[in-house]
Amino acid sequence: MFYIMNEKKKEQYFTEGLLNWYKTSDRPMPWKGERNPYLIWLSEIILQQTRVEQGLPYYERFKAKYPTVIDLANAPEDELMKLWEGLGYYSRARNLHATAKIITTEYKGIFPKDYKTILSLKGVGPYTAAAISSFAYGLPHAVVDGNVYRVLSRFFGIDLAIDSTLGKKEFTKLAQTVLDVTDPGVYNQAIMDFGATYCMPKKPKCQSCNLKNSCVAFQEQAIAKYPFKAKKLKKRSRYFNFLLIENAKGQLLIEKRIGKDIWQQLYQFPLIEMEAIADESILREQDLFKHLLEADILENLSPSKPFSQMLSHQKIIATFWKIKVAKYSKAAKSDFKIVFSEELENYAFPRIIDLFLQDKTLYLDVR
Ligand code: SF4
Repeated sequence: MFYIMNEKKKEQYFTEGLLNWYKTSDRPMPWKGERNPYLIWLSEIILQQTRVEQGLPYYERFKAKYPTVIDLANAPEDELMKLWEGLGYYSRARNLHATAKIITTEYKGIFPKDYKTILSLKGVGPYTAAAISSFAYGLPHAVVDGNVYRVLSRFFGIDLAIDSTLGKKEFTKLAQTVLDVTDPGVYNQAIMDFGATYCMPKKPKCQSCNLKNSCVAFQEQAIAKYPFKAKKLKKRSRYFNFLLIENAKGQLLIEKRIGKDIWQQLYQFPLIEMEAIADESILREQDLFKHLLEADILENLSPSKPFSQMLSHQKIIATFWKIKVAKYSKAAKSDFKIVFSEELENYAFPRIIDLFLQDKTLYLDVR
């Protein structure tokens, strides 16, 4: 039976139903009930665009290594990036570090206490600012993210595009309206958990859901329609050729990525980016190849199988070329860091390079 009620009543029904559900479905997480804003911030940044199971060990490691924001601020950058390795979206780690330094210097190591200042911190958007202010200080700010869009759009039957300006504005307004201001932290945790474990993108648990009698999507049997999106993102493909130039001592060349692109501050082998998968003759014509490899190449080049990695807006397809040389050219010595293969584990690499290094079926003698 579909219960028709006025708007105000429906909003109240939603809030009460959600909180009732939460009483029976509290899932234990190490950061739940945490009031320390630094640790809440840390967990929220780690969990952005990351599954809880994947983020959890990282949270534990960061918490153990940097128990306070000052410890995090004082961490050497390479050490921090190494600890973050494998989590992806590396700008989060850089922002975390930059913000920890600001809190340490400008705020004397004390985390800001008001929403506006928290929101002004680098890497902190409205969602994270709402989570920190409500969990740590009980301030009435509703979280709005993919989970919240989904739950609200389905229950209230809103078909405004969540990636449109109007959609974002309306959902934010509604999220704030249904927020339980008597305990915003508990309410925010409830809606986050409900979206993650109950009203999931695929196969939501509608049959046992205590909100189903008033849920528009369920009553109209139109779950797949919500949330509604206007644009479909087309991913760009990029073709990377990494040169594993090995000298007679078994050393390799690496460099830090510093340009305005993906994977800033991570390490990589010399890279030649192409429009498509390259063959050896095309690769040999590239400027960087000629620049680095004026010395004799001892054997034929051998390419790896292609490796691929999906990022949010692009697909990376990488080939690793093993190139043996007697010694390094001047250019190689001045532009790159020379390391033994055993030392590679001390550097933070993008996931696609890690995958390559861990693949024991490959030709490279990386011990
Ligand atoms: S009935 Fe289904 S779609 Fe509606 S709120 Fe519950 S789980 Fe979500």
